[in-house]
Amino acid sequence: GFIVFEGGDGAGKTTQIEALAQWLRSVERTVVVTREPGGTPLGAQIRQLLLHGDHVEPRAEALLFAADRAHHIATLVRPALERGDVVLQDRYLDSSVAYQGEGRDLDADDVRRLSMWATHDLVPDLTIVLDVDPAVGRARRGDSHDRLEREADDFHHRVRQQFLAMARQAPERYLVLDATRDRDELAGEIRTRVAALLGM
Ligand code: C5P
Ligand code: MG
Repeated sequence: GFIVFEGGDGAGKTTQIEALAQWLRSVERTVVVTREPGGTPLGAQIRQLLLHGDHVEPRAEALLFAADRAHHIATLVRPALERGDVVLQDRYLDSSVAYQGEGRDLDADDVRRLSMWATHDLVPDLTIVLDVDPAVGRARRGDSHDRLEREADDFHHRVRQQFLAMARQAPERYLVLDATRDRDELAGEIRTRVAALLGM
């Protein structure tokens, strides 16, 4: 099972991933928790360049995210899936389509194709979108600002709309949740959907 969490900054992805991982482990599933960018040692270096370096041109940025992803999927995620582990991943290709495609001025389909090429077409079994208004997300995450979080509100609005549009196109592979709801309630809904997915 390849389960991805998407959503704006401050949506609570980390909290929900931890809760789901804890529950899956309590029912004896082997879980790998990982993230993009930065899920591997190479990825950690790419993450540093992307988030804490100087300006990166949009096409260069898209390629760096894709490079992180190609290495991460090949060296960590695919081997885990082949062992039968459940992979819980914080962000994946929808983030690139939303941020590098819709957020910047790149063609969203180009960005998607780049990611698909990078990963030999690995599609998640389920993508959970924690939907949050960018202003609410901004208030929640406090001041841990990286370069990309500081983008203007209209950038983050375009990103949000793109996540929702992708979910509408393939509802069987998405679970969209209002991230402002009670966190235990959200965790419960996520567990129900994941249990069905994993045949538990
Ligand atoms: O989710 P995380 O905090 O690890 O993301 C780090 C930063 O990179 C955030 O500001 C996020 O908005 C941004 N990002 C991006 N494009 C991606 C993934 C993350 O701009 N594909
Ligand atoms: Mg962040």
